[in-house]
Amino acid sequence: MFSRVKLTLKLCHLNLQNLIKKTPTYIPRTKHNLSRHKISQAALNVLYQLHKSGYQAFLVGGGVRDVLLGRTPKDFDIVTNALPEQIKNSFNSCRLIGRRFVLAHVRFNREIIEVATFRATHVDGKGEGRIENGQIIRDNVYGSTVDNDAGRRDFTINAIYYNISDFSLIDYANGIEDLKARIIKLIGDPVLRYKEDPVRMLRAIRFAAKLEFTIAPETAKPIPKLAGLLANIPPARLFEEVLKLFLSGHAVKSFKLLCQYGLFQQLFPKTAACLENPISLKLIEQVMFDTDERIKNDKPVTPAFLLAALLWPPLLCQLPDKPVKGVNLQEKLIEISQRLLARNAQQRVAIPRRITVPMQEIWLLQLRLTRQNKVKKKNLKLLEHSQFRAGYDFLLLRSKAGENQVTKYADWWTDLLADRNVVAPVKRFRRRKKIK
Ligand code: ATP
Ligand code: MG
Repeated sequence: MFSRVKLTLKLCHLNLQNLIKKTPTYIPRTKHNLSRHKISQAALNVLYQLHKSGYQAFLVGGGVRDVLLGRTPKDFDIVTNALPEQIKNSFNSCRLIGRRFVLAHVRFNREIIEVATFRATHVDGKGEGRIENGQIIRDNVYGSTVDNDAGRRDFTINAIYYNISDFSLIDYANGIEDLKARIIKLIGDPVLRYKEDPVRMLRAIRFAAKLEFTIAPETAKPIPKLAGLLANIPPARLFEEVLKLFLSGHAVKSFKLLCQYGLFQQLFPKTAACLENPISLKLIEQVMFDTDERIKNDKPVTPAFLLAALLWPPLLCQLPDKPVKGVNLQEKLIEISQRLLARNAQQRVAIPRRITVPMQEIWLLQLRLTRQNKVKKKNLKLLEHSQFRAGYDFLLLRSKAGENQVTKYADWWTDLLADRNVVAPVKRFRRRKKIK
């Protein structure tokens, strides 16, 4: 057993060494367009401070990649040869987070900058590393050089380093060429790299969707076969990845690619089983489309609404479609939803309580919104419900998806809301004038 682990480590090591160029491409400041104006002041402060304290400091990952592509980075990631405790001691407001992968969070005003220590292969480096069946469980093995670190990065386009000491770029894995060719390519042997960390499959999809890049054939090919490895990832980590996939403005594309590569069924198996039903599929596609549109128009998006839609098909198919004598629909819905959420949390994506509570409220509101009250006052009371707007929008979504018997209720509420606006003084005045 021990020798097998050693052998795997050796293979990974050789494999990475092959891909990381012994002589990286060095691009001086005069030959690239990454200007300091494009880097946040907080990130620059961290880079300068580390440099001043005698450490090496580089900007890496999305901060370099996105600026080179002319996009605004989501965040700035920094890497240094300072150890986590040394990073902590270099800043007033810094805390160490994570266990699998320890990182420093340095706070400057409201911005948090992630600072990592150079990683190394588990053969070369020092620190705490653990590998089980090829999967890296602990990845706190530190190295002292940037070239070791480059080999531990996921994709070639994420391994371009900006050196604060001379403002040059260092490219270890042909990342700049792949940026130009718009290709997502894993560093090293794809099967080994996915086994080390199956979340890299989701990251490949996310970057392909976000950047509208193509996944290189050798990086794409193993994914359907290895998709099941996501079962070994803690459900709380998968939840974070799900948010990044669906709440960053590229949900439609991410969903399509996840389905294409057999990954969606690993995240939401019960929903995936319902996707043959065109109404369920339309509901999911519609919520993804609406989410992307809202982000494009700078409108807020809530994870609860999106996740309520993602889990609605399996919930709906377990609910009786007509009132059944002796069955309290509300209680039934609560019971089914709790079971559904618990199973998804244990085995796949763990949705935290702060989100499952509003999700359940949205679902429960569906019962009340599709039961017309003869007493108008009761309907008006429902308008005051804290989740009314989300519940009503959800009803519209179901109607757009073509769910049976829903459109008439959606229209009824839409009319009621329009009527209420008419009651408002300005509109009433206009209306009266018109009638005259
Ligand atoms: P964005 O921040 O836009 O989502 P990013 O590439 O910066 O994209 P982060 O999750 O911020 O992604 O990670 C920063 C960098 O850390 C990555 O670019 C990559 O080099 C490295 N990295 C992150 N996750 C992994 C992983 N699972 N395996 C290997 N390297 C990783
Ligand atoms: Mg980043």
